[in-house]
Amino acid sequence: MQQKAFGKDGPLVAVIGQGTWPLPDRDALRLGISLGMTHIDTAEMYGEGRSEEIVGEAIRGTPREKLFIVTKVLPHNAHAKGVRRSCERSLKRLGLDFVDCYLLHWRGDVPIEETMAAFERLVDDGLTRSIGVSNFDPWDLNEAAGALATRRLACDQVLYNLAERTVEDHELPWAQTYDCAIVAYTPFGRPPLDTKKKKYGLLGGIAKRHGTSAAAVALAFLTRDRHVFAIPKASRPEHVKANAQAGELELDNEELRAIDAAFPKRRRSGELPSN
Ligand code: NAP
Repeated sequence: MQQKAFGKDGPLVAVIGQGTWPLPDRDALRLGISLGMTHIDTAEMYGEGRSEEIVGEAIRGTPREKLFIVTKVLPHNAHAKGVRRSCERSLKRLGLDFVDCYLLHWRGDVPIEETMAAFERLVDDGLTRSIGVSNFDPWDLNEAAGALATRRLACDQVLYNLAERTVEDHELPWAQTYDCAIVAYTPFGRPPLDTKKKKYGLLGGIAKRHGTSAAAVALAFLTRDRHVFAIPKASRPEHVKANAQAGELELDNEELRAIDAAFPKRRRSGELPSN
């Protein structure tokens, strides 16, 4: 499994991680961990904490230093006291002393300065190793980064898949300049890619050459930039294995160009989409 630095001076993290919503299958998560997908994304929102509990069960027995665990606070809990309370509850459900990155799930009504200050206190007190955001466009990213006194943003987790590539013109350039990670959620799109459909034939052809699946090719395309990670969610063992293969797959320039042409970027005039 290829690993990349997660943010400026950040730890090396598996480029392909595991999503956990809708509720994950514990054994599928364990299989993913055994295949190197030790980067796991969850949130207090998912199943009102149940997703975090299942992650806690799945990671039991894996050495802590091998894992990169991310969870998120809901916007209405993202005030000074709420952040601490939410993070402590998440840690309890996960069975951990700290998470590797703590994210604001999306921007709400609490002033971003208040949330970022509370996040910095969590780092100071050892409850999280780093700080991130989700569903932030460059405007919001500037505000969040500017509100941090002593830390940096480690990531922005955003919707990014072959049908929704506008991140490449907005959040990714921001991340490249600032040097933080972009984490692609819903990397197979909605509805998820159906490889029997004609438009996915190109991915199938490339996959055949590499002895892998169209899904793995899609993930390898999305994570071609050194800042980008992906967190597919899979319950079926064959899906878990296919996703892990993406972490070993390198596409050549001709293949990247062909995929780029087959799944063109649309122009985005409005907000960063979230589904
Ligand atoms: P996704 O991972 O793109 O798609 C999941 C679907 O794809 C499932 O139906 C799964 O089937 C299928 N699948 C998985 N691997 C496959 C493969 N190799 N080949 C074919 N199909 C495959 O979408 P998602 O679950 O929406 O997003 C992933 C994660 O991102 C979530 O679980 C969550 O952790 C996070 N997320 C974050 C936000 C946010 O606002 N920050 C929003 C949405 C999601 P099976 O389950 O049957 O294997």
